[in-house]
Amino acid sequence: MQRNQLQPALITGSTSGIGLAIAHAVADAGYPVMLHGLQSPAEGESLRQAFSDRYGINCGFSDADISSEAGCAQLVAETREALGNPGLLVNNAGVQFTAPAHEFPGEQWQRVISINLSAAFYLSRDLLPAMRASQWGRIINISSVHGLVASEHKAAYCAAKHGLVGLTKVLALENADCGVTANAICPGWVETPLIQPQIESIAQEQGIDLDAARAQLIGAKQPMTRATSPEAIGALVLYLCGDFASTITGTAMPVDGGWTAQ
Ligand code: NAD
Repeated sequence: MQRNQLQPALITGSTSGIGLAIAHAVADAGYPVMLHGLQSPAEGESLRQAFSDRYGINCGFSDADISSEAGCAQLVAETREALGNPGLLVNNAGVQFTAPAHEFPGEQWQRVISINLSAAFYLSRDLLPAMRASQWGRIINISSVHGLVASEHKAAYCAAKHGLVGLTKVLALENADCGVTANAICPGWVETPLIQPQIESIAQEQGIDLDAARAQLIGAKQPMTRATSPEAIGALVLYLCGDFASTITGTAMPVDGGWTAQ
């Protein structure tokens, strides 16, 4: 099998939280990195410059909105222009919306499914031919424990994250003959801006402080009552890129403090 020549890495939603930590991990390992997320061009350029200066790598930035097929095509074009074809694609960008299914607004359903699931399909479809031709590729989908089990009020998120696990398995099977692996990472609670509204709403509803609300949110699901660090997900992505992980494909790996062991 051909070794990875540190081909460019595209990490969606890498201006914040888990995606930013993954970008730091792969940049530190020497990969050229395409940063991406909904930031202003000025903020994006300053992040790009900071990465380039700190790690001495080629680095690009795109603010493409990947909630549509056209937005995904824009991200692919901007990545190719900045760095060439990526060998590593991390489908990480994601959004959340919570409501009971019988009250779930249609536009929120569409938004969650398009960003958390459809974008991963469009980007994988468009980037796979070059990975297959080069005989090396890694597609890593940041799913969730909600790709494996359900929670109330997360109809769209659970549907999208379960869908992402299914997509991962198909990509693994279809590309098993050409050095391309596809895996899903399924985190439990990770301390990032995505979970802040959930912490704040518990604090408000129950009149408790944010630390108590955070402990309650995490402890309600995880035997280990502490959140995973974003850096731990970055380290796992890096492991999956290595030669020792070349036969790990089609998996959905929980990183969840025991949540799904119950
Ligand atoms: P975050 O809110 O910190 O970051 C989300 C990123 O996605 C940002 O860079 C944002 O700009 C980008 N993004 C959102 N909508 C976009 C759009 N339409 N177009 C382009 N970019 C867009 O979130 P996070 O907590 O770091 O989550 C990252 C991934 O990890 C998500 O897929 C999330 O579902 C998953 N996840 C998070 C947790 C957690 O506890 N935080 C747990 C399990 C899974």
